[in-house]
Amino acid sequence: MNIAVVGGGFTGLTAAYELSRKCHKVTVFEKESTLGGLAYGFKQPEWDWHLEGSYHHWFTSDRAILALVSELGLNKKLIIKRPVTANLYNGEPYQLDSPIHLLVFPGLSMIDKFRTAALLGYLKLTFFWKPLENITAEQLLTSIGGKNAYKVLWEPLLSGKFGTLAPTVSAAWFWARIKKRTPRLMYMEGGFHTIVTALEKAIKKQGGKVLLHNSSFTMRNSTFDKVLLTVPSPIAKKLLPGLPAPSVPHLWAQTLILETSEPIIDKTYWLNITDRAFPFLAAVAHTNFMDNRHYGGHHLTYFGNYLPGDHKYLSMNKEELLKKFLPFIKRLNHNASFTIHNSFLFTAPYAQPVHQLRYSKKIPTIATPIPGVYLANMDYVVPWDRGTNYAVELGLQAAKILTTEK
Ligand SMILES: Cc1cc2nc3c(=O)[nH]c(=O)nc-3n(C[C@H](O)[C@H](O)[C@H](O)COP(=O)(O)OP(=O)(O)OC[C@H]3O[C@@H](n4cnc5c(N)ncnc54)[C@H](O)[C@@H]3O)c2cc1C
Repeated sequence: MNIAVVGGGFTGLTAAYELSRKCHKVTVFEKESTLGGLAYGFKQPEWDWHLEGSYHHWFTSDRAILALVSELGLNKKLIIKRPVTANLYNGEPYQLDSPIHLLVFPGLSMIDKFRTAALLGYLKLTFFWKPLENITAEQLLTSIGGKNAYKVLWEPLLSGKFGTLAPTVSAAWFWARIKKRTPRLMYMEGGFHTIVTALEKAIKKQGGKVLLHNSSFTMRNSTFDKVLLTVPSPIAKKLLPGLPAPSVPHLWAQTLILETSEPIIDKTYWLNITDRAFPFLAAVAHTNFMDNRHYGGHHLTYFGNYLPGDHKYLSMNKEELLKKFLPFIKRLNHNASFTIHNSFLFTAPYAQPVHQLRYSKKIPTIATPIPGVYLANMDYVVPWDRGTNYAVELGLQAAKILTTEK
């Protein structure tokens, strides 16, 4: 079959890899000049490795990624570490990524700590996520973990991420976040770019075509036997009006990256900002996870937000945003000073679907009612929160459906 894959993120690339492996004639259309979509990487001349525009890692439970890495012969490039995750509480970072650290956390009473441990234990152990689709995360967290823990630990993160939509987020989304999380995280030598490049190379070797900087694909003049759209649902609807794509709210992602001569944050990789007076949700010190020698000896820290499409930060340039963030960034830096060598700003629309009540029921099948047209994007990742592991799973699933359906 002659197949068009629209979108060169992890879903599209995996599907194209699988389809070309099965000897189909595949053409990938990617709007940008680089592949990788939300997980794309960029590089500075003095860096050896690429860096993702927004913080990326894998969990050791990410089986689809592990299988793909192995199939592409990249096992030796996989790096597994246990970096520190912490919460900013009363202006100080507190490591909060193990039962012992929860026990010594000063922000909760002993009873709240036991209730939080019970909540997390229950979510880790249970497989029954469907009933959790009928209640909100807030209802689940307050009923088992208690109102105090909700106020100190969870509410600032939910409202920081989802804004006014926070009270509508389903408990199943929260379950998925806890269920798959592992303390050990994985990354790849060279960044996620290594796997993106390997996929591109394999697709081409298997006879496929990859067209970059190309948003010329339209359904009207398509001569392909089958079309797999992996672009976000609102874009798919523009490409094919009347397409029954999922209609769920999305948030934008925005990251400001600082390349500095000294580390901004000590030791911690992932710092949750629970003080909502801060203008960002998380500070992620990539070089507290990966060695900074791969980045010219400099330190790289992300300051990230999820935002609604009309948020004022989305119309601010890098300098304006840095001016707004800097006083708060300095409050995280107890060593008093750092020199900024470079800064980078990334914004991406449709970067996070909001899993509201009964989310799974709002997602149609990958095979659309339009003959020969298939849609698979991160909205289809259920019950899990989106991630490259699930994009790989989805790409494989879409390739299978596309080749087995008449
Ligand atoms: C801030 C942030 C942090 C994240 N952290 C992690 C993490 O730590 N680990 C992890 O595994 N995942 C993480 N993710 C999620 C991960 O990046 C995504 O789940 C995954 O990359 C989605 O892949 P995709 O191919 O489904 O979609 P996308 O990456 O969105 O790919 C869609 C592609 O379609 C292209 N496109 C759009 N319109 C057109 C058009 N008209 N024609 C042609 N092409 C078009 C886009 O340019 C894009 O390349 C994170 C995401 C964000 C935003």
